[in-house]
Amino acid sequence: MIKNKYKILLVEDESNIRNLVATMLETSGYQALIAESCSAAKTVYNSYLPDLIILDLGLPDMDGMHFLEYVRRDSPTPIIVLSARSTEKDKVTALDMGANDYVTKPFSSAELLARVRSVLRSNRYSSVEGRLPGGRFTLRDLEIDYDARQVFISGAEIKLTQTEYNIIALLSENCGKMMTYSAIIKAIWGGCAQDGSIKKLQVNMANIRKKFGAKLGESNYIINELGVGYRMNAERE
Ligand code: CA
Repeated sequence: MIKNKYKILLVEDESNIRNLVATMLETSGYQALIAESCSAAKTVYNSYLPDLIILDLGLPDMDGMHFLEYVRRDSPTPIIVLSARSTEKDKVTALDMGANDYVTKPFSSAELLARVRSVLRSNRYSSVEGRLPGGRFTLRDLEIDYDARQVFISGAEIKLTQTEYNIIALLSENCGKMMTYSAIIKAIWGGCAQDGSIKKLQVNMANIRKKFGAKLGESNYIINELGVGYRMNAERE
């Protein structure tokens, strides 16, 4: 057995999806651990301490959200929710409870794998490192100097306002994680997400995207999921 394989716990009660995803993970070089219920997931989680969890919500014994809560009580282990529940409210609730990302069924294997890679990669950008003197963040052509509060693309400085910088720094520290509007607003302005503050966030984000040279409809560095939030994207999609 290769020791350095990432261990991914897949919690899914539907055997065809479970087999499909497990095979996909194994062929991509990950070790897939399997659980068919919340209680089985707890046992596997505690025995193997996986590097990442892919979590279905509709499980036979309890709602998958219970397992999410259970893990988040003491661990930042990344969690990707994989669910047929596709409303904005479902996504926002799971993300605000601490899920790193949310993929809705039906899904494409390529998309799920991209999210897995993105979340695993983002876990290597430790936010602690960013706060240390000399802390830098690099993602493709984007570079952030946290000390100087400067942002560069291909070596050229992008002039941002304080608020725009704070948003970019926050997203970079959570690179790969889908951040809900309310999580961003709380971190940047300290308030709760009302219509006014969401508008303010969207205006700032539009300015950032313009300054970053994003063309309309192009994902660039930041993905916007309408009604849900923003994610700095570690993967080219
Ligand atoms: Ca299910």
